[in-house]
Amino acid sequence: APLESVPAGETVTKIKVNLVFPDRLQEVAQHTDGVGLLRIEHMIAKSGIHPAKLVRENRAEDYIKILIDGIKPIADAYKPKPIWVRTLDARSDEFRNLQGGQDEPKEDNPMLGWHGIRRSLDEPEILKAEFEAVKRLHAEGLTNVHVMLPFVISVDELRRAREIAEEVGLPSEVLIGIMIETPAAALTIEEFCKEGVDFVSFGSNDLTMLTLGTDRNNTKIANLFSEMHPAVLRQLKHVIDITKNYNIESSICGEAGSNPEMAKILVKAG
Ligand code: PEP
Ligand code: MG
Repeated sequence: APLESVPAGETVTKIKVNLVFPDRLQEVAQHTDGVGLLRIEHMIAKSGIHPAKLVRENRAEDYIKILIDGIKPIADAYKPKPIWVRTLDARSDEFRNLQGGQDEPKEDNPMLGWHGIRRSLDEPEILKAEFEAVKRLHAEGLTNVHVMLPFVISVDELRRAREIAEEVGLPSEVLIGIMIETPAAALTIEEFCKEGVDFVSFGSNDLTMLTLGTDRNNTKIANLFSEMHPAVLRQLKHVIDITKNYNIESSICGEAGSNPEMAKILVKAG
């Protein structure tokens, strides 16, 4: 909906955006409560170089600069409202045409492959650079920048990511949340709550794909892809119920968040 049509007034539910390019940034920041998902992949695509190549060639500083330059204007516009920056979640086929993209592994199922937190833990230098960028932004007073981990399937991944954050010296005021976009994360949510995850956000695109066994990119089965499937909705409800018990904030950053019917269901679920 056009921003002008958003009614004034307070809601208990925070209205956030997914930001890609900082278009009409001031206006958007004024009308919303935060950034629920900031994807760094667009900054990387614009830079033309794969972060794995930068890190391999001891050019982590270049990667840090790309991230700071990309995140800073958005954090500035939103300050003090929170922005949740997602750590790298590029599939191996996604950045093939970037410099260094040819060196990416060939995978039969990149969507189910080496991306998100699993890759970050295999290549911690990339993750360290991302944490370093957030650390420097905090040092500049942009304390509204927080971190979100994609494609998590186990508490161990959260733990290991936190260890790396600590190694880098990420201040403890930086919240580290996880995306709930695998049935594994949704169904073991209580373990993440016990571990003290700072917040969770539904990646309903992947959660739907993985729950229904329906490739997001396959137009042949696009008619089967629905976040409204009861198996998806029950996982959402389950996660909301458990996170509420532990007083942990839940959010949505998949496309379904912009579906009014889904919004009604989620608000009603609390
Ligand atoms: C999702 O899976 O819902 C999500 C927000 O992440 P992406 O679309 O980038 O996989
Ligand atoms: Mg996803």
